[in-house]
Amino acid sequence: MRVLLVEDDDLLGSAVCKGLQQAGYAVDWLRDGRQAMNALRDAEPDILVLDLGLPGQDGLSILRDLRHRQSDLPVMVLTARDTVDDRIGGLDAGADDYLVKPFDLGELTARLRAIARRRTGRASPVIEHNGIVFDPAVRSVSVDGETLQLPGRAMAILEALLERPGVPLSRERLEQILYGWGEGVESNAVEVHIHHLRKKLGKDAIKTIRGLGYMIPK
Ligand code: CA
Repeated sequence: MRVLLVEDDDLLGSAVCKGLQQAGYAVDWLRDGRQAMNALRDAEPDILVLDLGLPGQDGLSILRDLRHRQSDLPVMVLTARDTVDDRIGGLDAGADDYLVKPFDLGELTARLRAIARRRTGRASPVIEHNGIVFDPAVRSVSVDGETLQLPGRAMAILEALLERPGVPLSRERLEQILYGWGEGVESNAVEVHIHHLRKKLGKDAIKTIRGLGYMIPK
């Protein structure tokens, strides 16, 4: 899952960035509101984590712009302004949730998981499909009761595929999920991870759909 973090505070931004990466997210981090606005018009992440007080353009107007364009991108607002009016303003402008600074990183990642869950319409936090059990909270995967050791990137690909069984995801889409881990994506990275996942999960666990990408059968 790919997160765009917009936060101008260096210390907080780098802590959130690290925390999210450890929780298995691919993170892009921008410090400027106007840059964020442009980035969002180009391509949307899976979740936006948005500070309200930003240079260039404030967070609330970024949020209003998104909703004005009918975007349903999930947005978690980070705010230093612990006043009722600001919270109401943020939620009214279309935020899915908000956290008041300072906050606990564990709480941020737990709330992001809840947002992602609501978005896919799942009530249970654990994804179970075709004998594969994936627990996003502790980043663990098991098959038929046996826990698998998987690198973070392979797990991120598996998570994306498990969220939409029967729906193929293109290599480009999967590369986007890998991108943001703090390094460039090598041209065959997706194939390498898929190969690795098939070795662990069984060769039929992930299907290649010609011209469309990869999919976990329904
Ligand atoms: Ca700020």
